[in-house]
Amino acid sequence: MSSSSSTVEENNTVIDQPVMVKEPSIAKFREEVVNWGLLYDSVATIEDPDFRINAELAKLVRDARKSIVDAFDEGRPFISNNYCTAPEVSKAMGLPSYMLFEAPFIPSSKEVLGDQLDHTAAMGLGPDLCTAIRSGIYYVEQGLVPLPAAMIGFIFPCDGMPMLHQVIKHNKFWKDMPLFCPDPPYFQDPRSIDYFANELKKMVSFLHNATGATLDMDKLKEIIDESNKQYLLWQEYNELRRARPSPHGYDIGGAKCFCVSQMFSVGEPDGTEWFGKLVKLAEDKVEQGLGSTPQEKIRMFWFDIMPPNWADELFPILAQEYGAVCVMDMFGNSPYTTIDTSSEESIWQGMAKRGLFDTPMVRQAIGPAEGFLDDLTRIVRDYEIDVVVWPGHMGHKESLGTYGIIREACKDLGVHFLDLRVDILDGRFVEKDETLDKFARFFKNKGLA
Ligand code: SF4
Repeated sequence: MSSSSSTVEENNTVIDQPVMVKEPSIAKFREEVVNWGLLYDSVATIEDPDFRINAELAKLVRDARKSIVDAFDEGRPFISNNYCTAPEVSKAMGLPSYMLFEAPFIPSSKEVLGDQLDHTAAMGLGPDLCTAIRSGIYYVEQGLVPLPAAMIGFIFPCDGMPMLHQVIKHNKFWKDMPLFCPDPPYFQDPRSIDYFANELKKMVSFLHNATGATLDMDKLKEIIDESNKQYLLWQEYNELRRARPSPHGYDIGGAKCFCVSQMFSVGEPDGTEWFGKLVKLAEDKVEQGLGSTPQEKIRMFWFDIMPPNWADELFPILAQEYGAVCVMDMFGNSPYTTIDTSSEESIWQGMAKRGLFDTPMVRQAIGPAEGFLDDLTRIVRDYEIDVVVWPGHMGHKESLGTYGIIREACKDLGVHFLDLRVDILDGRFVEKDETLDKFARFFKNKGLA
C-alpha cells in the first residue's frame, strides 16, 4: 500500500504557522453564529415537535461555528477536518474544526449556491466536477472560510476530491498551510484497519507539529464514550423508523443524525441530548400509529445523500399525491458499531473502522461494489422498501459505475428500481417538473399509483 503521508513522516519538524487571512475570511462564520443563534432563540415558540427537533439543531451548528470564531479571535489554532478522518481526535486535542466542503449541505447556503456555482464556471471549473468540490474551491478562492492552522485532507472515496487540495496548493493564502491526507486502503479487511489506524496515529503527529496541540488519551476516551451513546441512540431511532407507517420521512433524522454525530457535536453531551429527544419523538409517533404523511402507501429508499437544497420541493408532493415516503436514505442509514475504549489499541482500531467501514459514502464507494450491495439488501429487507431510488448524483463517478449491478440486485430482491440522475446539491441541474414527471410515470407504470 502506498502512503501519501510519507513526507510528513520524513519531515517531522514543526511547520511555521501560515500567513493568516484576516477579515473577511471569518466574516461569514461570524454571521452564521448570529443567524443560527437567532433561529435557536425561536425554538421555544415552535409547537410542532417535528419542526422543533430540526430547529434545535441550530444550537449545535451555532456552537460549532462559535468555537472557530472564538479560536480565531483568541489566536488559538483551529483546523479543517472531515467526517471520516476521526473527528474525535482533533476534538480531544482541543482543536475546533470545520469541513471545507460542507457549505452546500447547509440549508442556509441555498439562496446563494446557484450564483456561486455559476461563478466557478467563470473560474474555469468544469460543470462535471462534483458540486460539493466546486463549492469548496469557491469558498477558498473567495476567502469565505477562515484559513486553518492545518488541514486534514480527504482523498477518498472519490477521485475528484484531490482537486480541492490542488487548488489550495495554488492559493496565495492557503498554499503554505500544512496538509496531511490519511491514506485509505481499498479493501475492507483486518489488515486495512491496522493500516488506517496507523495513518490516524501519523495524523496526530502531524497535527501536533502543525499546531502544537497534544492528544490527551483520557479526553479521547471520554469523547468516544459519549459518541458511542450517540450512535446507539441513532440505531434505536432507526429501528423505530422500520414501523408502518414510518414515524418520519425525508426531513427528520436521516442526514441530520449524521451531521450531529460527525460534524457539529462529535462526542458532545448536547448532541447526545438531541438524539435522545429524537428517539422519544419517534417512539411517541409509533405508539400513536402516526406517520409522516396521513396515508403511507409507497416506502422508498433514497440511495444517496438527501438533497439539502431541493428535497423540500420534491418529497412533500410525492407524499401528498402518491403516499410515497422516504423511510431511509444513504446518510440516515446507521451501520455503526461502537468503539471499544478499554485499551489504546482498541480505540485506534475502532476509529479506523468507523472512518473506513461505517461512515456513509466511504463505506460503499471506496472498495468493491459489495459495499453498496450489502447496504441495499439489508435496508430493502429491514425497512420493507417498495422502491429503491437511485439518484445518480452527477459527481459520483465511483458509484455511477455500479448502476447496472444495483439494478440487477433490485430485480433479485423483488423491489422496484428508479434511476433518476440529478445533482443532489444544485436543483437547477434537472428541472423539478422533469423529476416529478419521472416519478409520476414510474409509479403509474409499476402499478403503484
Ligand atoms: S458527493 Fe460524491 S463526488 Fe462529490 S465529493 Fe462526495 S463522494 Fe465525491
